[in-house]
Amino acid sequence: MNIKGIGASAGIAIGKVYKFQQAEFSIEKQNISSVEKELEKLKSAIDHSERELEIIRDKTKETIDEEHAAVFDAHIQILKDPSIIDEVEKIVKEQRVNVEYAFHEVTNNYINMFESMEDEYMKERAADIKDVKKRVISHILDVKICDPSLIDEEVIVIAHDLTPSDTAQLNKKYVLGFATNIGGRTSHSAIMACSLEIPAVVGTKTLLEEVKDGELLIVDGINGHVILNPSEDELKEYKEKAKKYEEQKNMLKKFVDKKTRTMDGYEVELGSNIGSPNDLDGVISNGAEGIGLYRTEFLYMGKDHFPTEDEQFKAYKEVLEKMGDKPVVIRTLDIGGDKELSYMEMPKELNPFLGHRAIRLCLEKVDLFKTQLRALLRASAYGNLKIMFPMIATINDFKRAKEVLIGVKEEMIKEGIKISDNIEVGIMVEIPSTAILADQFAKEVDFFSIGTNDLIQYTFAADRMNEKVSYLYQPYNPSLLRLIKMVIDAAHKEGKWAGMCGEMAGSQLAIPLLLGLGLDEFSMSATKVLESRYLISKLNKKHTHDLVSKALQMNNNEDVVKLVEEYISEVE
Ligand code: PEP
Ligand code: MG
Repeated sequence: MNIKGIGASAGIAIGKVYKFQQAEFSIEKQNISSVEKELEKLKSAIDHSERELEIIRDKTKETIDEEHAAVFDAHIQILKDPSIIDEVEKIVKEQRVNVEYAFHEVTNNYINMFESMEDEYMKERAADIKDVKKRVISHILDVKICDPSLIDEEVIVIAHDLTPSDTAQLNKKYVLGFATNIGGRTSHSAIMACSLEIPAVVGTKTLLEEVKDGELLIVDGINGHVILNPSEDELKEYKEKAKKYEEQKNMLKKFVDKKTRTMDGYEVELGSNIGSPNDLDGVISNGAEGIGLYRTEFLYMGKDHFPTEDEQFKAYKEVLEKMGDKPVVIRTLDIGGDKELSYMEMPKELNPFLGHRAIRLCLEKVDLFKTQLRALLRASAYGNLKIMFPMIATINDFKRAKEVLIGVKEEMIKEGIKISDNIEVGIMVEIPSTAILADQFAKEVDFFSIGTNDLIQYTFAADRMNEKVSYLYQPYNPSLLRLIKMVIDAAHKEGKWAGMCGEMAGSQLAIPLLLGLGLDEFSMSATKVLESRYLISKLNKKHTHDLVSKALQMNNNEDVVKLVEEYISEVE
């Protein structure tokens, strides 16, 4: 069976299905005949949970860092908390009821108690107890727990959706690929799959309901489909395709140390997008010329508290030092939309992508913003830092953000802290209002980086997470190309540079158009750097200019795609 989706991360994976689906269970009060048996179940569930949590903690330490791992130490403490265990045992003994019911009752009391507290930190404890409760009761009832870091054999993960923190915990050694029912090409789990180099297909709509654990499946992340229970011929064909894909990857290695230059000698900068210092190995091994986007919000996720100034400083410093004198664009916190923090209360919004997110939230929670800015300014002494604000919609947004930055800087200078005196401050262009007013913005900012993932969703009014409207994700539509042109032209008129860090920058079809429009910097997932450099080496800047002039006069996405496809096939 062949199921269509959206290719989110290139490559081909062939393996057994692992359904990543949280089991639902209902807890009912039941009378029991043997207290002893119930208490044995409790002991074994606690032992089992402890072993599991230790594995998760160790793997998190290995793949993420110590601080994220510490969350699971806290879970082990809750698990072994004598007062919880005593209370559960007492209920089982006195009321002669089933242990899952007793555990459910006792932990719920604690959850309610913590949730009703004023203190944010105490409130967060409720989430930890909920997690532990679910784990222990699953073991008592003997139902499968889905935890990405517990996977210890080669599989293909199939889920309804994966959160970015689930994705971050996928271990490349065992997870050969993944496919989800929902999500678009620019959902953050798709973007992370790309940096983890795990082949992925998203937006398959019903795949999770079609598959059974252990069935054979092919994920074709290049063409965006999956094949369930493939025939012998299909298996042979895809093994061959996977081999070709690997060969192409090896051929591209010779471009690692090369400059990014067109056939007629025009140079551009190819940077990489990262979500954590852990991504730097891929950046360096793929020969990126800088970091065009560091999504700092991942530093805030998968934790139980806001990262402190020191924690952030350490991460930023590591990235800046490892990149030497190469440019590193660090974006301030862009939380909201599909990125949530378990420990921060964010009221549910009808349209979270149009809501109180990113810079809007930072300008309200100024202390949070200042902590990040202090960490960034301290780290600036260790490399070539550029600071970028996300989701700027008005000149006033930018001026307010910059004022906070200047205030923090002045305080720190008074404190005698060393700060680089050469930090560019720029903005993401992700909102049409900003693209339209780019000529005015260009007088205020040091650079633009076009965030097409959001710019496309706002231009076409099509939610980037909703596969039903993914046909409106139209990077080649002349309406979007004209917006991009306005931004690049406005930057150049004021002697500033314009980059792009949305997924479009790494798309092979978009590159000739962006080159023709005069884009200065392309920032993409590290895995796309080499194929992009190779493609650019075969292009002629003058020809791409003619190409884009034609594209700008067309009236739909499909015609532009055809035009560029023909152009690329002539170049090859
Ligand atoms: C974008 O919107 O294009 C972008 C790069 O930011 P994010 O994908 O993190 O929203
Ligand atoms: Mg964005």
